[in-house]
Amino acid sequence: MRTTNLYAPTLREAPAGADIPSHKLMIRAGMIRKAAGGLYTYLPLAWRTIRKIEQIIREEMDAAGGQEFMMPIIQPAELWQESGRWERFGAEMLKVKDRHGREFCFGPTHEEMITDVVRNELRSYKQLPCMLYQIQDKFRDEIRPRFGLMRSREFIMKDLYSFDKDDAGADISYQKMYDAYTNIFTRCGFNFRPVEADSGAIGGNHTHEFTVLAENGESDIAYCESCDYAANAEKAELSPIVADKEDMLPLEKVSTPGTNTIDLLCDFMNVSQEKTIKAVAFQNEKDEVVLAFVRGDHDVNDVKLQNAVGALDLRMADDDSIRAAGGEPGFMGPIGINKGTYVVVDSTVMNMFNAVTGANEKDVHYKNVNPSRDFSDEGIIVTDIRLIKEGDPCPHCGKPVKMTRGIEVGQVFKLGTKYSEALHATFLDENGKEKPLVMGCYGIGVGRTMAAAIEQHNDKDGIIWPRAIAPFEVVVVPVNAKVPEQLELAEQIYDGLKVKGVDVLLDDRKERAGVKFKDADLIGYPLRIIVGPKAINNDDIEIKIRKSGEMIHLGKDECIKRVQELLKTL
Ligand code: ATP
Ligand code: MG
Repeated sequence: MRTTNLYAPTLREAPAGADIPSHKLMIRAGMIRKAAGGLYTYLPLAWRTIRKIEQIIREEMDAAGGQEFMMPIIQPAELWQESGRWERFGAEMLKVKDRHGREFCFGPTHEEMITDVVRNELRSYKQLPCMLYQIQDKFRDEIRPRFGLMRSREFIMKDLYSFDKDDAGADISYQKMYDAYTNIFTRCGFNFRPVEADSGAIGGNHTHEFTVLAENGESDIAYCESCDYAANAEKAELSPIVADKEDMLPLEKVSTPGTNTIDLLCDFMNVSQEKTIKAVAFQNEKDEVVLAFVRGDHDVNDVKLQNAVGALDLRMADDDSIRAAGGEPGFMGPIGINKGTYVVVDSTVMNMFNAVTGANEKDVHYKNVNPSRDFSDEGIIVTDIRLIKEGDPCPHCGKPVKMTRGIEVGQVFKLGTKYSEALHATFLDENGKEKPLVMGCYGIGVGRTMAAAIEQHNDKDGIIWPRAIAPFEVVVVPVNAKVPEQLELAEQIYDGLKVKGVDVLLDDRKERAGVKFKDADLIGYPLRIIVGPKAINNDDIEIKIRKSGEMIHLGKDECIKRVQELLKTL
């Protein structure tokens, strides 16, 4: 390919609204253009990278026994009504009607559809295991599309679905996919971790997210350097902390004027945060109040809380609702809340002695609160609802955990029989007995993977592509394309590399060298070959390695071989 034939409009500045490096750089490098919020066009450079990522995915899916196929993007409402997700999926699902008034949705995922595909025809244990996958556009009407391709509304996903005759078989399929994902993200050049995750709305009981470690990630990851533990913060389980035993003093109300935050309270009472119990008030989708209590220095993990009360959605409660439940904003405590209100107490709180908490009256707290004595056990839920933080003991080995941020690029789920039971997808086992298929589903965000690669590999000048997914591996730049000797030598190198199967671009534009070099750095080709006057006069060709900035000088006879060797290392 020649640059004069490439549509890649580069920009000096990123437009307003592009906030993280991958988003800015993809726009500046002429890779993507926005059509509307969360909707993007992939220009040729981006599409080349997408195709390379897809190819890596295909090779690994096929090697693991997957078969590529394609389902429709638009799906009939009836299937989602059968599984119960037509309503449950919520506003992220874009619903449409056809000319006859029949309802459909734009597929946000395909569990229902695939189960329908196989339910009448995957009938015998002899046909199992079976793995089918597609690479296709999905649509989710995200509430806050942002960061370009990282969280868009229309996005490309690889989704594979596995069918097995029993749990043992499903475990094998899961492991195959786990290994295939490990290969894919290794081949894409990532520093990543498979992390334990929450199974969320999709259901299922066992799942890992493949997470690329990057500052701008949306997930908080807890990981351990002493063992291989890594978990999404929303999922990370914590064992209760047991405070040193104290004699339980009598419960007492104290006047604490104006102390409606933990800091003010601690100052006023002269106690540490570890001696206080903090309240956070939420409302679920039915507007019921959910009160969560954690130790003063801890935070509530809203995913764990949501699971504890079986809520579909939680938002902060308003003051009127808190009062209606018997609480007082800023002075809330578990004692005296109206019966029937969800009161969820973190397990650690139950092990505290002589603590301070709100008395549900303005400017009043209780001191000497001993939860094991003072919290009525009727109706309260005691469980782990705490958010993990740096230094907490690793749930596997007990050493202090570290926190980092990550980008979820893929996820593997064991679904069990959730969808096969709902949609009656059964098979006949060895004894002719009818059983539900045991399923798994496995997604990779292709565009998000491209964005994550840029997040992990960039500098002030632009993108630094890992070779495997670079739009072109090499760019050959004649310093002055108006000089016939330079253009001719550049063409020779270009042809020589093409013959060897190298993915090479010739920047044959009659632009200033500076412009071409800047574009090359911005787009981030792993290698740049510079053919200038020295190349013509002294047989001195220059190769710049984008990643290290290193310059290599060599003669034209060694050039092709050396480039091939260098590429193997990038
Ligand atoms: P998230 O938690 O980030 O919203 P998810 O867990 O809902 O994602 P899955 O249903 O697991 O997503 O989808 C599989 C993969 O699709 C994700 O791992 C991610 O890489 C990609 N993906 C999901 N939502 C988006 C989106 N809005 N934009 C781009 N890629 C996405
Ligand atoms: Mg996910």
